[in-house]
Amino acid sequence: MKKIISTLLASCCLTSLIAQEVVVKGPDEKLQLVVSASPAEKPSYSITYNGKAMLEKSPLGMNTNIGDFAKGMKLTGHTVTPIDTVYHQDRIKTSKVHYQANELICNFENPKGQKIDVVFRVSNHDVAFRYTLPRQDGKGSVTVTAEETGFRFPQQTTTFLCPQSDAMIGWKRTKPSYEEEYRVDVPMNEPSRYGHGYTFPCLFRIGCDGWALISETGVDSRYCASRLMGKDGGLYTIGFPQEGEYNGNGTTSPGISLPGETPWRTITVGQTLAPIVETTIPYDVVEPLYEPSRRYVYGRGTWSWIIGGDNSMNYDEQKRYVDFAADMGYESVLVDAWWDSRVGYERIAELARYAAGKGVGLYLWYNSNGYWNDAPQGPRGRMHNTIARHREMKWMKETGIRGIKVDFLGSDKQQTMQLYEDILADANDYGLMVIYHGCTLPRGWERMYPNFVATEAVLASENLHFSQKSCDAEAFNACLHPFIRNTVASMDFGGSALNKYYNAKNEPRGSRRVTSDVYALATAVLFQSPVQHFALTPNNLTDAPAWAIDFMKQVPATWDDVRFIDGYPGKYVILARRHGDKWYVAGVNAQQETLKTEITLPMWASGTELQVYADDKELQGEVKSVKLGKKQTMKVTIPCNGGLLIVG
Ligand code: CA
Repeated sequence: MKKIISTLLASCCLTSLIAQEVVVKGPDEKLQLVVSASPAEKPSYSITYNGKAMLEKSPLGMNTNIGDFAKGMKLTGHTVTPIDTVYHQDRIKTSKVHYQANELICNFENPKGQKIDVVFRVSNHDVAFRYTLPRQDGKGSVTVTAEETGFRFPQQTTTFLCPQSDAMIGWKRTKPSYEEEYRVDVPMNEPSRYGHGYTFPCLFRIGCDGWALISETGVDSRYCASRLMGKDGGLYTIGFPQEGEYNGNGTTSPGISLPGETPWRTITVGQTLAPIVETTIPYDVVEPLYEPSRRYVYGRGTWSWIIGGDNSMNYDEQKRYVDFAADMGYESVLVDAWWDSRVGYERIAELARYAAGKGVGLYLWYNSNGYWNDAPQGPRGRMHNTIARHREMKWMKETGIRGIKVDFLGSDKQQTMQLYEDILADANDYGLMVIYHGCTLPRGWERMYPNFVATEAVLASENLHFSQKSCDAEAFNACLHPFIRNTVASMDFGGSALNKYYNAKNEPRGSRRVTSDVYALATAVLFQSPVQHFALTPNNLTDAPAWAIDFMKQVPATWDDVRFIDGYPGKYVILARRHGDKWYVAGVNAQQETLKTEITLPMWASGTELQVYADDKELQGEVKSVKLGKKQTMKVTIPCNGGLLIVG
């Protein structure tokens, strides 16, 4: 208890104008949270790390249809309790998490005597907070019309943000689907591309003082998912979904049953980027919502659509990909859109039996629709309501299907969160795992829903297939994800292509891959998802280097630990992941200049024999055995669009 600092400072000017402050630090006392209340202004909080301002006085509170919980709020009490807990996860960046934090509960009351608490958890690099509301005035439900919740950054801050798109735009009116382009190191006052703020997570560089990542977690059917709205003076506030999302169906104002609470908003800070890359805050403050109905199997898989497109949707080609998955020692095949009409249910069942004989499971693609966009691909109308869904999932269970990939759920409304949750909960009843595409960011879902795998919510590999522009920007984007999108949630990217061209014959037409083979291998480690359907094709068994195929056969999809080594968002990244007692260091470089640096590798004892995969300046890769020197350091070189991989 002695490490908790909790002070209540009352500075009396007039008895009616009392400013109150509560101070709480993280366990190692570097991260400090100050909560302030005075009747003259909205309640607020601020955050410092090592004495440096990470967030200036930022507003708290909300407006609801039963009362205003922002103006004239009085702090009536507070408690501080230490939290020290260990939990295990088999599908995130770390398998064993020791979460230590100090929990501060601030009790507020508005001038009408209505109550709201703000619950903060302060760990060494993360602050999470949420509102909790009791039943009041006999009312058992509330609609939140707006949140005051904000994040005010110091003036020197620059931003690394992805804009939220307009509603009902893009292909077959499927957006917003978190598939917009990031801009890096941009001043705070630059407008968002569509004028609708930014998608979580949001990365900020606070000059030379450090970094902050803002996100949210614990979002389920009991609230909407939010976005970040840019305001003047370095302030960003919580924004609710847009009216037009989900084709205008469903409210933008979330409802809460009382007593109840909002999702957690999270702030991860550090002087370096290591706490951002290594954070587990999305999982630390949430709990499983149900028990798994079976032991779920994760792993690697193949997927014909990414190279072969819709033409590859026929029985023979899917069977060839099952054989290919078996040759690679992979656990699954993802059968993409149109299988219902081009293969048919009976032959899919036959394919599932054939695959099972080879130890391979099938994931089946589904269109989420429904009445919320115009996407035509089938199967359609099987996932949108509980009656159709149960019938379909019963068939899948009987057929031995391993999981589903449900596409096109572009909305953050509470009604859409309900659909995400209903599909997950029903799928668990039938022993199915779930991947979402064309969708929102998962917010703590790996821990909340035991059969949840990952979502897309990123400009994923399909864009490499669609356009050369995406191929040219491939390394730039890969150098963002470990710091932003992929650090808060598993990311279904579907990459690591070894074809030179995104077509089935691997001949010079369409999109050309500009990244190296070592880069492809490195991203299999860099991008985290417990199920990875790689963009490999059967021809890679003969036309890709043997060392590349050999590595792709042994690369794991689940991890026990992660360490940030070096990098800068959008420029380059080098990180290490551990699977069992084996470490994998992966790096990629998007800068024009070749990256030359010396990295420290404390995970290996000096003298350890390591396999080093590296590129020459023509992006020709090779693998060498290298003995780690006495200082446990290694000089490494990564050319533009090249990669690095060290395994041992
Ligand atoms: Ca997509």
